[in-house]
Amino acid sequence: MFLGAIDIGGTKTIVAVCDEKGNIIEMENFPTENGDWMVHFRITAEKFIQCVNKLQIDINEDLSGIGINVPGMVDENGILIYAPHQNWRDVHVKDYFSNYFKTDKIIVENDVNSCAVGEMIFGGGGHDFLWITISTGNGGAIIANGQLIRGNQSCAGEFGHLKVEFESPRKCSCGQYGCLEAHSSGTAIKEQFEEALLYDLNLKETVLNKQIKDEKFKIDAYGLSLLAREGNSVAIDIFTRTGMYLGRAISYGVNISNPQTVYLGGGIAESLDLILPAIIMELDKCAIEECGKVTICKTKLGYNAAIIGASALVYLQKDILANL
Ligand SMILES: [Zn+2]
Repeated sequence: MFLGAIDIGGTKTIVAVCDEKGNIIEMENFPTENGDWMVHFRITAEKFIQCVNKLQIDINEDLSGIGINVPGMVDENGILIYAPHQNWRDVHVKDYFSNYFKTDKIIVENDVNSCAVGEMIFGGGGHDFLWITISTGNGGAIIANGQLIRGNQSCAGEFGHLKVEFESPRKCSCGQYGCLEAHSSGTAIKEQFEEALLYDLNLKETVLNKQIKDEKFKIDAYGLSLLAREGNSVAIDIFTRTGMYLGRAISYGVNISNPQTVYLGGGIAESLDLILPAIIMELDKCAIEECGKVTICKTKLGYNAAIIGASALVYLQKDILANL
């Protein structure tokens, strides 16, 4: 049997068919339309059907189900409550795709929750862990006793908006101040890099030299990680602060759910070596001893975590699990 997977992200959408171990067999990606959700969903459904047709298989006969990620909060009925980037509200995602594909084997989930389900089934595994994305923004999910924790309003695991700085808080995209996302996301790292360039002439010269040698060098989190690896002290400081704030947020999470592992995903997780010492130091300071004994590592799902996670959602349907 095969697993259908659709990942509707903030900027990019992926459709794929995976085997029952979550290996991607066929995949295509295209931009997420910002306008009417119905227009984008129709394009997505058509692309998915093309993907299935390439493999000469049938949606109803050969797929155990279709997992669909959306970039926002989802309730247990598969209704997208709100997607901030697109400004989509109360979208009946499950109903739309069930009608389009003429199947009831549709499972809809928030994209970060889906990564956590993917990690449990196809990745590093475990039954008690936190999953934190460090990308343009920060997201999170909690798996406890092998169950995804959804919460009363389906918004459990919002690590990005835990408050980590009170003395000199930065403004967050949510409108509040001092959130993890405002201090430890890819966007926050880029902003701090730009701010440092305004007052630090040595850094400015280093960056100009870099840009002369390599025209692809960018003033962003990845560019800063290159400087940090060369020993640039300003770059190292920014990554150390990023790790410290992450450690603070993780300490809240581990004290609450006492996980075995914290998986980190998203682009900044590729720089884990630059932030891990500060994460551990802050965790030692802020978490209680028993809860602080936690393994912190990169996701085992790699770059395609979200689409593999979407395919793993199929396993949340118990009747399908029994038939595999
Ligand atoms: Zn916030």
